[in-house]
Amino acid sequence: MISSTQRAQGALAALGIDSTRLAPYIDGHFQRDYTGDYCAVVDPATEEPLIEVADGQPADIDRAVASARASFESGAWARRRPSQRGQILNRIALTLRERAEHLAVIETLDVGKPHAEALADIEATARYFEFYAGLADKHGGRTVPLADHLVDFTLLEPIGVSGQIIPFNYPAQNTGRGGAPALAMGCSVVLKPSPDCPLNPLLIAAIATECGVPAGVFNVVPGGVDAGRTLSSHPGIDQITFTGSVATGKEVALAAARNVTPSVLELGGKSPVVVFDDADFELAIAGVSGSIFSNAGQTCAAGTRLLVQRSARGEEFLDLLVERARSLTIGEGIEGATLGPLVSKRQQERVAAYLEAACEGGGVVLTGGGVPDRKGYFVEPTVVEVPNNKHRLAQEEIFGPVMTVIRFDGLEEAAEIANDSEFGLSSYVWTKDIDKALSLAKRIRAGQVNINTFEVGTGIEIPFGGFKNSGWGREKGIETLASYTQTKNVCIGLNTALTR
Ligand code: NAD
Repeated sequence: MISSTQRAQGALAALGIDSTRLAPYIDGHFQRDYTGDYCAVVDPATEEPLIEVADGQPADIDRAVASARASFESGAWARRRPSQRGQILNRIALTLRERAEHLAVIETLDVGKPHAEALADIEATARYFEFYAGLADKHGGRTVPLADHLVDFTLLEPIGVSGQIIPFNYPAQNTGRGGAPALAMGCSVVLKPSPDCPLNPLLIAAIATECGVPAGVFNVVPGGVDAGRTLSSHPGIDQITFTGSVATGKEVALAAARNVTPSVLELGGKSPVVVFDDADFELAIAGVSGSIFSNAGQTCAAGTRLLVQRSARGEEFLDLLVERARSLTIGEGIEGATLGPLVSKRQQERVAAYLEAACEGGGVVLTGGGVPDRKGYFVEPTVVEVPNNKHRLAQEEIFGPVMTVIRFDGLEEAAEIANDSEFGLSSYVWTKDIDKALSLAKRIRAGQVNINTFEVGTGIEIPFGGFKNSGWGREKGIETLASYTQTKNVCIGLNTALTR
């Protein structure tokens, strides 16, 4: 039986890494002679170590910011012709695709997700680089019509050094999501991945160098809270993109505000999934179960609150959902399981605490509700019906494979329940009635409304971000480019003596 350690070593060797330790990636290389501490990165499905990775400290962040700053000021990337930056980003996309299988193995072992999902993640990561490669030489300023004696235009300049802090759940995709647009606009980057899942961010930074991104432009420092705090409060960065929980996001925003550093916050969610009686159940059941059970529910935009219409058809839908949940195979993602583990023991314990509270206040567990007695940080796929939306399981972000079910009668009530949340990240509506679907779409307060669809790992082209406590700013799409550029206005007076 091949161990997780052997699998990781095999994939890393195929990716050109023959070391048993990965140091921070600064100034175009893994730091040689790194003297800091290392931590073992563990496969959450087997609890076996994969490789040791540096536990980056504030001094490492300082070094990375200095490197990013020097690379930015040199103009080697920021002042390069945008089409040439685009060519290099396209090369990164191509390389990611060529190495997709090995990178997906790493993603599966690092996060625990099913291999098919990891492959989709690597493709999405390649798409980020490809999409922003195409925009590098198309995102320009405008001319402003003023008085006859004036000519006015805007320049969109790279904002500078972008600090990026990402969570554990989509390390490859999040590296592309923030990294690719920043690079396309000419910024330099310091990215701090989660200490739980730092592997692909480090590997992608090395690929960027290999493909022609100059040294110092793309730095990755793995580390924990101290490293994160140092980055978000660093006076040497010009912008910060944070993806993670609401509590950490508030801290990051406060730290950034002290330096007047603009921030993008992509935070948590408790996204409603409204299923009307007239929905196409065959389509809906695949989408609804995908939206809660992919990545074992560890997705910010997961559809975690199922609002199902009170009727015989509604009952039928719930039966189908329970049946679907029971059909999932729990196990190692690398072996083809359809439900992997949670990322860590800590995350498993957190979700288990919610499961213990499930039956409080009238909650009824329809399926699952436990932690399987096996190695690895698994949680059973769970569906819990709660009496109303005030129940704790309907209000708090659980971040596990736990669907909360609430009944509704009509469209008005569905809208009220959907909006009764501190979050507003995403939402899903399933109905064949376009009138109902669009009426609800206009009422729901969330950054995204998905009607009769749920696509995992796609949507690079679509703006993404939250209302309310789910954050501010937008990533993805053309919209994110505003975060990585500064607008400079240039106004020219023409022969003013004659015209005044
Ligand atoms: P987290 O907030 O615990 O950590 C996120 C990142 O912040 C990690 O890299 C962590 O090391 C770092 N960090 C922790 N404390 C910090 C501090 N005080 N200052 C600076 N950095 C700090 O989140 P997590 O558990 O890794 O991820 C799960 C959360 O992320 C969920 O709430 C989920 O909804 C959210 N998320 C949001 C999106 C989105 O796009 N909206 C996407 C993925 C995940």
